[in-house]
Amino acid sequence: MHYFDYVADELHCEQVPVRRIAEEVGTPFYLYSHATLRRHFLAVQEAFPDTERLVCYSAKANTSQAILRLFADLGGGLDIVSGGELYRGLKAGFAPGRIVYSGVGKRVDEIDYALDSGILQFNVESFQELDLIDQRAAARNTIAPVAIRVNPDVDPKTHPYISTGLKKNKFGINHRDAPEAYRHADRLPHLEVVGIDCHIGSQITEVQPFRDALKSLMELIGELRGEGIDIRNLDIGGGLGITYGDEQPPDPGEYARTVMEVMAGSGLRLILEPGRVIVGNAGILVASVLYRKHSEDKEFVITDAGMNDLLRPSLYQAYHEIRPVRRRKRPEIRADVVGPICESGDFLAQDRQMPDLQPGELLAVMSAGAYGFCMSSNYCSRPRVPEVMVKDDQFHVIRQRERVADLIRGESLPPFVK
Ligand SMILES: *Cc1c(COP(=O)(O)O)cnc(C)c1O
Repeated sequence: MHYFDYVADELHCEQVPVRRIAEEVGTPFYLYSHATLRRHFLAVQEAFPDTERLVCYSAKANTSQAILRLFADLGGGLDIVSGGELYRGLKAGFAPGRIVYSGVGKRVDEIDYALDSGILQFNVESFQELDLIDQRAAARNTIAPVAIRVNPDVDPKTHPYISTGLKKNKFGINHRDAPEAYRHADRLPHLEVVGIDCHIGSQITEVQPFRDALKSLMELIGELRGEGIDIRNLDIGGGLGITYGDEQPPDPGEYARTVMEVMAGSGLRLILEPGRVIVGNAGILVASVLYRKHSEDKEFVITDAGMNDLLRPSLYQAYHEIRPVRRRKRPEIRADVVGPICESGDFLAQDRQMPDLQPGELLAVMSAGAYGFCMSSNYCSRPRVPEVMVKDDQFHVIRQRERVADLIRGESLPPFVK
């Protein structure tokens, strides 16, 4: 459910015509709906009645300050995977005591920053990382709160690039080694074991993998409690899928019922790390058609947005619905929608049955709010596009378009190059 709809054949974001924003800021640009962001955040937060829980929005899905601030104001926490995200989160107003830190490759300076900030929990992904966090905490004369990210070896049945909870993935500690990791953490004097964590993948469209992972975690918790290692926080990660095309993912309510059923009576405090399910359908990418081209047996719609703006189609063969900003009766075509980047992998859609869009027309790439702008790059020296947020009948540019001068900011010539 989102607030991008046609009113008299003009695509609107809430009450603002998308065309009006395009006229003011130019294309391409990302556009977010405040009402959708808020609604999706609250849908997750309110899906767990009578359960002590903290919704730690997964920053990496969309790290814009305005979006982070919105979730901080709704009482959210934050799931981060780098020192950079910690910085953004603190700037956006998240209390450090509501921030959990995941990731397989935490650097020393990042661990120090998180310790000095006083975050809620490190989600630790290796024995060596446990040792390093213990040392850094010892040097600061403090105690680091840790959870171990357990890899339950569950198939999330999603794209291989976004499955993370299989034995062969780099994430977490294998569930068979997890008890030993907990005993190790428990012995280290500057660590306090506070929780357990898992995150099995992204864009998951069934509840069964979540149920399997959670059951495996609950067994482990029972075993650890039996050894006197108390676990208070149960962090079940993120991963709930959304509808891009014809997927029918469980809604937050169904997901929540499964989770609450498996953890019932455990007395655990629940931590969630949703990303995509909150922001994915709350954003679109708006682009202009530059050219049409027909070659042999192929039709191309060439737009001013490319893989550097939205990488998902190129990286994961991801499907994004493409809609005309102005709807009218017209023939359909079968075409590739491609960008200006000098790569054959630069496409937004392939072999797509779609309206016959002409040069100068605007199109909307739907469901681009998650892993959209934050994965964008300057490849081919293309300035990154602006981000705009709409609330009711107002819009605001929450990030300006980069200028060409921004492209060489920070560069310098060495004395030996004349
Ligand atoms: C990416 C990530 C998430 C969020 O995943 P979504 O599929 O966007 O919900 C949560 N936790 C961790 C550790 C992640 O890496």
